[in-house]
Amino acid sequence: MEKRQKIYEGKAKILYTTDDPGLLIQYFKDDATAFNAQKKGTIAEKGIMNNRIATKIFEYLGREGVKTHFVKLLSDREMLVKRVEIVPVEVIVRNRAAGSLCRMLALPEGLELDGPTLEFCYKKDELGDPLINEYHIRALKIATDEEVGKITKMAFGINEALKKFFLKLNIELIDFKLEFGRHQGHIILADEISPDTCRLWEVGTGKKLDKDRFRRDMGNIEEAYQEVLRRVTR
Ligand code: UDP
Repeated sequence: MEKRQKIYEGKAKILYTTDDPGLLIQYFKDDATAFNAQKKGTIAEKGIMNNRIATKIFEYLGREGVKTHFVKLLSDREMLVKRVEIVPVEVIVRNRAAGSLCRMLALPEGLELDGPTLEFCYKKDELGDPLINEYHIRALKIATDEEVGKITKMAFGINEALKKFFLKLNIELIDFKLEFGRHQGHIILADEISPDTCRLWEVGTGKKLDKDRFRRDMGNIEEAYQEVLRRVTR
């Protein structure tokens, strides 16, 4: 697959066109940002680890019947994906309170929620990705009601599948962020799922195996990502 031009560069990934107009190369960088890019750094080999971890997760979700943009792993830092039009909302699913939910509602970290929750954040860097609801999404024509319904159903389904997947690896899925895209008139899962986009706690010890180690300068960041990679590939 021939790599042509860079069409998008985000905080952690770059997208390149290929000789096939329907396919893109998603390249994973080592750069890490937190708190709306106020904190910046790099995590050694993160791109390589996240590319492999995301591949394993997309392959698993595919087997579980979830439609995703993933096509195949290409190299250490590259995967081939279907070209989609990204719906500009971050979809956050939570099983326990952490991060911004704790800040917003003054909840203790780790509080078990009585059933999963769903949030939408409008993807607008200059605004810091504000929380919005489905009425805003409709009123601003960000997505149709039908798309929001589909995204909601898929997000909760993916939560159930991922909780099961990680529990087998002795990891509890606390929360995560998804992005969806429009592809041939359908909504499919896009972007990535990795320790950058999930909170993952080791069962029993509660040890954090995700980007919170970077956000909070907890150390052993590479080791935590490596540990997730080791478990998903064993
Ligand atoms: N998340 C993400 N990208 C974002 C915002 C959040 O991947 O731009 C993930 C984050 O890693 C966590 C979940 O979504 O797993 C919920 O994040 P939260 O809203 O608590 O925000 P944070 O405290 O991470 O700023």
